[in-house]
Amino acid sequence: MNNKNNLWHQVDNELRCEPLAENLQADVLVVGAGFSGLSTALHLARSGVNVVVLEAQEIGYGASGRNVGLTNAGLWIMPEQTQQHLGIERGRALNQLLIDAPLYVQQLITEAQIDCDYLNNGTLHLAHKASAIDYLTRRAEQLSSYGAQLQLLDADATYNKTRAKGYYGALFDRRAGTLQPLKYCRGLAQLALQAGVKIFTHSPVTGLQKSADKVQANTLKGSVVAEKIVLATNAYEHNLTHNRAYYTPLYYCQFASAPLTAEQRQRCLPDNNGCWDSGAVMRSFRTDAAGRLIIGTVGDIHTGDARHFKRWCQHVVAKTFVEIGPLQYQYAWSGRIAKSSNNIPQLLEIENNVVQIMGYSGRGIAGATVCGRELAKYLTGEISQQQLAIPFNNANKISFNQLRAVAYELGSQLSHLSDHMLR
Ligand SMILES: Cc1cc2nc3c(=O)[nH]c(=O)nc-3n(C[C@H](O)[C@H](O)[C@H](O)COP(=O)(O)OP(=O)(O)OC[C@H]3O[C@@H](n4cnc5c(N)ncnc54)[C@H](O)[C@@H]3O)c2cc1C
Repeated sequence: MNNKNNLWHQVDNELRCEPLAENLQADVLVVGAGFSGLSTALHLARSGVNVVVLEAQEIGYGASGRNVGLTNAGLWIMPEQTQQHLGIERGRALNQLLIDAPLYVQQLITEAQIDCDYLNNGTLHLAHKASAIDYLTRRAEQLSSYGAQLQLLDADATYNKTRAKGYYGALFDRRAGTLQPLKYCRGLAQLALQAGVKIFTHSPVTGLQKSADKVQANTLKGSVVAEKIVLATNAYEHNLTHNRAYYTPLYYCQFASAPLTAEQRQRCLPDNNGCWDSGAVMRSFRTDAAGRLIIGTVGDIHTGDARHFKRWCQHVVAKTFVEIGPLQYQYAWSGRIAKSSNNIPQLLEIENNVVQIMGYSGRGIAGATVCGRELAKYLTGEISQQQLAIPFNNANKISFNQLRAVAYELGSQLSHLSDHMLR
């Protein structure tokens, strides 16, 4: 599952970091250089903590360099469900943190002028059937009580904004937007380096070992002894298996067309909004800075040339963006989402001084950015465990999670086949 055919990785601003080849000491070691690890490292370093980051592959190798790039607010579940899971107080605190999260991403990008094709133009949650409007209305009511700026669009307004046929309306979130996720991730890494973090790539941690009141992480050619370790490996954990029982791996794939002509761009997402729909097997649509259309859906790509999916894309585009004609697809890639038992991100204390942060369930661009910031505050003692908005040691193990993963995958593939007849 490399990133050779991933559109986001076709940029040449790679940050060159060396593999670890020495024995180091640190206050905190962060394992994994995605949004979670880098945000935690950045905020720790800004508080004067000596931080080392070890990454098995390269920066943004995992979900952070593969996602759709929607800076969404909140969780998939309704705010009231978060409260049911976590209790009123912590539920409210987590909702507020995550509903405001896109604003913090915007702040970071703006302050540091991170070059990541960020568009702060709002996202659209599209209703794929009439009954989904009720759901979007309730969602709008609940999120608005936390200050989200949402607008329900009817079918005509949705069509005018997207030129997508077949949708009954949409929830327009003005505070969300799109970005190029790998560039954003590299931007976070650059900020972390500037704050004094040492980052080593191609340095998989092969094991953890207790030494007195510290923990040692070993790589093939070096080691780091730290007072605390943050495992930010999410669904891409390599060698380490501490979190494996706590999430179901769920695949999501994307297909990027050749750049559209000026005329096609007028007939397909003319305002360049990121969109996803309410279908059980979700679809997403967005454009990139070069004017490509990027279509996504649940499922993994099982053949090298992704030909079944490309046929599915032709079908979906013909039905949705009816005026743009057939497209050529140049990039096709997929990524693994860590779906937690309740779709809520989790902090797990593996041992006294080892914590794992994980389980954004597909809502981790803004989510992991702010959760990393909160985790840093907790580790520096700025806030207590009780003040943390993220649930702590409250995660459920998921029985038969690998079997569930197979069922999700099979279900999504069957759904794509039936789309040719039904949708
Ligand atoms: C296809 C897809 C689409 C998505 N779309 C969206 C979206 O539009 N909006 C949104 O908000 N969220 C989205 N998400 C979710 C979001 O991308 C993730 O929640 C987020 O990137 C998680 O970041 P992370 O840092 O926790 O994990 P990751 O980015 O997966 O990083 C984990 C890192 O740990 C490293 N690692 C693992 N083991 C070791 C080891 N032993 N030693 C050293 N390093 C190790 C890995 O190599 C990897 O780089 C999507 C996810 C996917 C997969």
